[in-house]
Amino acid sequence: MSDFIPVIDAHCHIFPDKIADKSKEAVRNFYELPMYTSGTVSHLQTERKQIIEIQNQKYQIVRQLICSPAVVPKQTKSINDFISETVNSDSAFIGFGTIHPENENFPEILSGFREKNLLGLKVHSDFQKFEIDEPKMYPVWKEAVLLDMPVLFHMGDRKLDYSHPRRLAHLLEDFPELTVIAAHMGGYSHWKEAFAVLKPSDRLYFDISSTLQMIDGSLLLKFIRKFGEEHFFFGSDFPMWSPAKELETLIRFGYPETLLYKLLFENYTNFLKEIS
Ligand SMILES: [Zn+2]
Repeated sequence: MSDFIPVIDAHCHIFPDKIADKSKEAVRNFYELPMYTSGTVSHLQTERKQIIEIQNQKYQIVRQLICSPAVVPKQTKSINDFISETVNSDSAFIGFGTIHPENENFPEILSGFREKNLLGLKVHSDFQKFEIDEPKMYPVWKEAVLLDMPVLFHMGDRKLDYSHPRRLAHLLEDFPELTVIAAHMGGYSHWKEAFAVLKPSDRLYFDISSTLQMIDGSLLLKFIRKFGEEHFFFGSDFPMWSPAKELETLIRFGYPETLLYKLLFENYTNFLKEIS
């Protein structure tokens, strides 16, 4: 038995070194929030090297999900190649690919994910300017169901309505067989609405990235009771937040050890078995 608790960070973004600073500025300006760092691969790898000690217990991040959304159609290929190369050179990374709503050859792109070692699709409808439940995107979700590919949805925005939780609720009614991870506990800054409109399902999961600094432990517990404790994954939204600080915030909620272990490691490990 190792002397640290392993942690999977189920929501990280990376950027190629030469555009990392520019990308950081763009995200910072969009959210009007200070960013932890600029999101290079080497920095994210460093997060795995540290032993994080909190309340006399040691933790270590052992795996990290990486993704990056295409904000213009022509970025899709280079981003998917970049994520794929990064995953292939370091097996501690779990890669999710991207498509842009204007990529007409999306079935081809999605069916190519497997051989590129990309296990799912990440979409960010506020950056990519589409409504989660707009009919134009239905063929994409249909294809994801056919390929048995999970979709990680960025959820919730203070100013925009593209990724509102009611849109995801609507989509799930039309696609009950789609495996969905609703990022940011179902809706950044819209947690009340997310809790009210989303219905529990075997195929609906949540990550708690970009959430922990804005909520308290009782709200997450309320979600866990409604949607099931197997359905929640720890995530940092690196480079927005420091993974170690996010981890510490979650631990200070004071949950029972078994629940904490599920959120940090066990749930995503089981999820990976299901999707690989
Ligand atoms: Zn994200």
